[in-house]
Amino acid sequence: MPDYQAEKDKAKRFLAEFYVDGDGGKIFKYGEQLVKIAHREQVELLLELDDIAEIDPELAENIVENARRYKQLFEDAVFEMLPDYKEREVQVKDALDVYIEHRLLLEQRNRNDTETRDPRNKYPPELLRRFEVCFKHLSRQKASAVREVKADNIGKLVVVRGIVTRCTEVKPVVEVATYTCDQCGAESYQPISSQTFMPLLMCPSEECKVNKAGGRLYLQTRGSKFVKFQDLKIQEHSDQVPVGNIPRSMTVIAKGETTRLAVPGDHIAATGVFLPMMKTGFRQLSQGLLSETFLEAHRIVKMNKMEDDEMGNEELSDEEIRALSEAPEIYGHEDIKKALLLLLVGGVDCTPQGMKIRGNINILLMGDPGVARVKCSLTLIDLHLEVSTPQDEEALVLV
Ligand SMILES: [Zn+2]
Repeated sequence: MPDYQAEKDKAKRFLAEFYVDGDGGKIFKYGEQLVKIAHREQVELLLELDDIAEIDPELAENIVENARRYKQLFEDAVFEMLPDYKEREVQVKDALDVYIEHRLLLEQRNRNDTETRDPRNKYPPELLRRFEVCFKHLSRQKASAVREVKADNIGKLVVVRGIVTRCTEVKPVVEVATYTCDQCGAESYQPISSQTFMPLLMCPSEECKVNKAGGRLYLQTRGSKFVKFQDLKIQEHSDQVPVGNIPRSMTVIAKGETTRLAVPGDHIAATGVFLPMMKTGFRQLSQGLLSETFLEAHRIVKMNKMEDDEMGNEELSDEEIRALSEAPEIYGHEDIKKALLLLLVGGVDCTPQGMKIRGNINILLMGDPGVARVKCSLTLIDLHLEVSTPQDEEALVLV
């Protein structure tokens, strides 16, 4: 067993002491971010493992091997360090702040305490925390295909490349459930880290236990903490699929600041922890011994489709667009292209309430299952680009 306390001290030392040389002397890259986090001006703290490796290669290696545990460790470290980085009082208060403050006041009044108790002893850290710790993979870790991520990688930090095929809406998911007791009024907190949870039912407070009052717990939406949640599906890019194979896909779960970073069609590289999806109760029974896996996202970046570079925010220049239009991905297949064109501009119009909608395109293309759908949609794009050739005009005239 590694000594996690010692590892946490290492984490603290790294956060406080790491600097890069700037124009005006040392820039404490993470120290400055901690100040912002303490003042609620920043939520996400992205730790670059390359920076950690510079100071402590062993620590960086440990993070890759056991990413989820070290995320917790760094969160604890940041939480303990924040008071030292706070330079002024924060005025912004959200509903949860008000709620916690109110509870503390109430408690104080009931017990006639003269001093306020440190809320850290009472509330779970997840409830009070307003920041997220994420890791950026080591630069030597190359992005792998979905099919290359295997059982060896469970629990480790991996980088996966692929196309987003589906993504759900962003919804709130409960992170800490707060309950109140109908007998003694005491509050219980339940941090939730998996996809499902078993609600607490009986009041665990001292008062209820001694009196055997059997207080029932009720979930309090207002006092619970929610985070943003999004479920993404990524699929291998066609160059990653061996001939004759079907592209594989992977579920990526994004929470908090990693949500809303990609939409279907985007080519992305996702850094995250590869984990099995734990299910309980009937759902576990019905699926037997099988388990699904997912990637818990730490960082999602859009990639250039052709190269392995990460994409900046720059737009395509006119010249690049022209270059793209001059290089269709599908050569030949004139008959298929013509058929698709006819379907595009022809077909039966559906006109509900005066609206003009093109009828469905019904065409059966046979071939390699690995590329069929993608290529078919590409063909449609190519058609738009090549519509100016005489043959296509002929096709249009035919319609
Ligand atoms: Zn109770």
